[in-house]
Amino acid sequence: MLCTKGIPTTEDLATRIPPEERRRKGPVVMIECFQKIPCNPCYTACKHGAIQKFEDINDLPSVNFDNCNGCGLCISKCPGLAIFVIDETYSETQATVSLPFEFLPLPHEGEEVDLLDRSGKKVGKGKVLKVRNGKYEDRTPVITVAVPKELSMVVRNIKVGGDVR
Ligand code: SF4
Ligand code: SF4
Repeated sequence: MLCTKGIPTTEDLATRIPPEERRRKGPVVMIECFQKIPCNPCYTACKHGAIQKFEDINDLPSVNFDNCNGCGLCISKCPGLAIFVIDETYSETQATVSLPFEFLPLPHEGEEVDLLDRSGKKVGKGKVLKVRNGKYEDRTPVITVAVPKELSMVVRNIKVGGDVR
């Protein structure tokens, strides 16, 4: 299930991007959920008070970015696959993106994969740093991939094993 039917507009995304000052401090969540549906597992997954309590089950999640430590524990709990953690402090030239990935085959750590944007278009190559696929993830593995820093707000999916055209 996808949270949104189409691809979010730049205006939509602008309401979700963590402030630059917060991004400079380390990993932080970005929630790309734009459709009001009765759903709140993101809120119950966050033990750090970063995702604000829903007044109404149909509310869109609201984030206190200063409370987010970038743990990523909310990523696999979102049925809409709408939650990402971005770390723009990874290195001088690279950021990391942690994303939900429900396709097979799964990549392995160290593997080079295609980097895709929100529309599924290939935008580059990146290296998988971490694959989380335990009991907690419950069949929604979480992949952390290194990406060129300028693509931290662009890469939202990967393709394993082969080029995307
Ligand atoms: S990444 Fe961790 S701290 Fe941040 S919103 Fe998700 S669960 Fe909460
Ligand atoms: S769990 Fe996902 S789809 Fe549901 S409200 Fe939170 S971000 Fe939106």
